[in-house]
Amino acid sequence: MLLGSHVSMSKGLVGAAKEAHSYGANTFMLYTGAPQNTKRKPIEELKVKEGFEYMKENNLDSFVVHAPYIINLASYKEHIFDLAVSFLEEEIKRTEAMGSKYLVLHPGAFTDKDMEYGINRIAEGLNMVLKEEQNVIVCLETMAGKGSEVGSKFEELKAIIDKVELKEKIAVCFDTCHTHDAGYNITTDFEGVLDEFDELLGLDLIKVLHINGSLNPQGAKKDRHANISATDENNERGKDYIGSEVIYSIVHNKRLEGKYFILETPWLDKKTNLYKVEIEMLRSEKAYDIKR
Ligand code: FE
Ligand code: FE
Ligand code: ZN
Repeated sequence: MLLGSHVSMSKGLVGAAKEAHSYGANTFMLYTGAPQNTKRKPIEELKVKEGFEYMKENNLDSFVVHAPYIINLASYKEHIFDLAVSFLEEEIKRTEAMGSKYLVLHPGAFTDKDMEYGINRIAEGLNMVLKEEQNVIVCLETMAGKGSEVGSKFEELKAIIDKVELKEKIAVCFDTCHTHDAGYNITTDFEGVLDEFDELLGLDLIKVLHINGSLNPQGAKKDRHANISATDENNERGKDYIGSEVIYSIVHNKRLEGKYFILETPWLDKKTNLYKVEIEMLRSEKAYDIKR
């Protein structure tokens, strides 16, 4: 099972790999710089060779990159759209140079326009960016549906992908918190949700899953990730509405074998995260509650 978490790239790829290893992970996900801006170090400073040497020695064979969320391919404003296109082009090159195959991207938000406009604009941008010769596959993330986000319904992702010319360069990242918040019943009918995805897009298209609890009930459209914990009657204590049993069964689901499972659960404070204990629980014989 490929299981890891988001890690920091501030000390280059070798730092990211070391952090992942410290959590007992065998894969990881990173942003090539701050997620909220487009300032990036030159590739030569990312310690790629050193990183791969460390990875090889420590049972980490590959990783996923996440594009910064300020990229908005759905924007009708020329300068925002142009920045999104040019930055995404650079990000694909960086992902490629770093030896990663998958780049996760939030599809975008249509702001003052409408869903149809957003879908068309995103497809237009992707068709400008994607190149025959690239090895990187852009994975559109399933979104929670807050504001004017595109991609909270599988149909929206399908509508974008249908318009993309280079179909072999596009795939999907399935986020458990987001699909739950978007209204999909992943807690008691995960198989049904997978069936629905399979019918529309095909399960092969899912390359990466983000494994998060949710602080809000199904359909809340909030996008607030929770640490993985057992749910109780009122979801009071853990405040995770998805629950460890469900998350455990998702990462062990036979239909999702071989895909990347990446935790993006919150940090308790600036210094503490639960990635190590969450990974340990998900790799154990059966689900249990994580004490904290
Ligand atoms: Fe994301
Ligand atoms: Fe996510
Ligand atoms: Zn999220």
